[in-house]
Amino acid sequence: MTPIAPTKPRSFLEQVEAGTPGDSRLSMCIQCGTCGGSCPSAEDMDYSPRQIFAMIRADMKDRVLRSNSPWYCVSCYYCTIRCPQEVHITDIMYTLKHMAIEADLYRDSAAPDLSNTFVSYVENNGRSFEFGLATRHYLKHQPLNLVGAAAMGLEMFSKGRMDWRPEKIKQTKQLRAILKRAKAIEASQKMEAVA
Ligand code: SF4
Ligand code: SF4
Repeated sequence: MTPIAPTKPRSFLEQVEAGTPGDSRLSMCIQCGTCGGSCPSAEDMDYSPRQIFAMIRADMKDRVLRSNSPWYCVSCYYCTIRCPQEVHITDIMYTLKHMAIEADLYRDSAAPDLSNTFVSYVENNGRSFEFGLATRHYLKHQPLNLVGAAAMGLEMFSKGRMDWRPEKIKQTKQLRAILKRAKAIEASQKMEAVA
C-alpha cells in the first residue's frame, strides 16, 4: 500500500488569503508604507498595516491576532485606494478580526463585542442603531464614562443625528435571505479551504 504523504500545514499567509473574499493581493505587498502613512488610526495601532503584512508573511499568527491593529481599523478604505499594489487592505483587516474571534486570541472583549452588536443590528434591522450600540457598549465596558457619553448623545438627539428607537428597512425578509445565502457560501468556502 502506498503511504499517504503528510499534508503540509498552511502558512498564515495562505490562511489569510483563503479567508479573504476574492483575490486579496496580499502577497503583492512591497512594504512601501503608504497604507500606514494614510491611516487615521495608525497611531493607536500596535502595528501599522505594513508591519502587520510583514508579520503575516513571517508566519507570526499569534502576535498578529493578539494585536489591536485590525480592531482600530475604521474601514475608511483610504489605504486601499492609495496602495500602489492594489492590496485589499481593509478586507484583510476584516479577515484578521474574524480569525482573532475564532481563535479567541484577542483578549480585550470591547472591540469584538461592539463589532458583534453592530452586526446583529444590521442583520435584524438592515441598519445600525447607534443609541443601542453606544448604550450597550458603555454599560458593559465603560460604565464610568456613561455620563459623558450621554451628554454627547443628547446633543446628537437634539440635532436629529441619532434615533431613540431602531428603524428597520422595508425589505428585511430579502435581506435575511441574502445574508443566509452569504453565510452558506462562506461556510462552503471554509470547508473547501480546510479540505
Ligand atoms: S500600501 Fe500596499 S504595497 Fe504599500 S505597504 Fe501598504 S499594503 Fe503594502
Ligand atoms: S481602512 Fe483601516 S487600515 Fe485602512 S486607512 Fe482606513 S482605518 Fe487605516
